[in-house]
Parts: sequence; structure tokens; C-alpha cells
Amino acid sequence: MGGYGSSRWHGYTPKTTADSGLILNLSKVNQTVRGLHTVPPKGIETTLSWFIGDRQIASIGMNVTPSRLTLHYLQSGNPITQPIELTSTACNYGGVRRWIVCPTCNRRVLCLYNVGNGFACRLCQGLTYTSCQTSHKYETVATLPLIREFNKALRLDKLYRKLENTRYQSKRWNKVLDAIRKLDVESLALQ
Ligand SMILES: [Zn+2]
Repeated sequence: MGGYGSSRWHGYTPKTTADSGLILNLSKVNQTVRGLHTVPPKGIETTLSWFIGDRQIASIGMNVTPSRLTLHYLQSGNPITQPIELTSTACNYGGVRRWIVCPTCNRRVLCLYNVGNGFACRLCQGLTYTSCQTSHKYETVATLPLIREFNKALRLDKLYRKLENTRYQSKRWNKVLDAIRKLDVESLALQ
């Protein structure tokens, strides 16, 4: 616990619990607000929901501005307000890539994960690709589709980092990009 902001509510109504294993990425935010670029400076108040099939497993309150998300949710019954900074960098393959700043370690990341203790990056949460199958952290993740989603997000996170550290349009660069395309076409379209 700890390391993720205050639990003041600023007058927002608590949404349902975020105790399940949840992934937060900009693709998900974009699906909800229909484009971060169109968000007014004062922000949009909205709700972020997670589903397995048709079943909603979690729903949290979110204020979105172009540079910050503020999440409002219940964690183990406690009301939490967690501000999440957004940033962007120029891509070595053109355009701009937007990032989420991990609220615990300030690293730029693609995804934050919540396994029952607030949203933070995979390193802060101690998550690895293989541990998704076995780790006790995942006992709260009751269903296989969600574990698959976790594994995909963790893999993408690592691949994008590899792409950043690889020489533009080298053989290796193209190989990494292919692997990303195979995993997730949608997130590439967000650049
Ligand atoms: Zn972190």
C-alpha cells in the first residue's frame, strides 16, 4: 500500500471497487473520452469501466485533462484519489508517443496495473510476464481472459521500450515493430 496520493475526494462520488486486476493504458482512456487531443484544459469528468465479455468487473471515476488523469475509486473499501501525470516524447520513427507517468517511480510507461493496491507500473508492482501465470499477486484475478490481457500489456510495454532503444529502421527495429503490430494494431494508431 501507499505511494499513490491522498485519499481526499474533492466532492466526487465514489464509484465501484477497483480491487480486481486492472490495466490502465491510454488506449483505454481514449476509448472513453474519444481522443485526448480534444479534451478541454479544465478536463472531462467520466467513468472508466473494465469488462470480461459482457460482465463489468470494475468501474472508477476519472477526470481527464490533456496532461493529467485523476482517478477516484474504492480500494479495499477505502476511497482513493490518485493523480496520474501524462507526458509525450518524439518517436524515432516519426510522430509523438504519449506516455503515462508511473505515480510511484515517475518512469514513463504504457500501462499501469492495479492488483489490489493502487495503480503503478509493472516494476513497482513487481510484475513479470511469466509471473502472471503463477504469482500470488494474481489470486485476485479470477479469470483467464484477464490474465491474457495482463500478459499482452506486459509484453507490449517491454516491446515499446526495446523499440525506443533500437536504431531506427535497423533489422532489429523492424523485427520489434512487427512483434508490436502482431500484438496490438490499435495502440500504434494512437501515436
Ligand atoms: Zn513505477
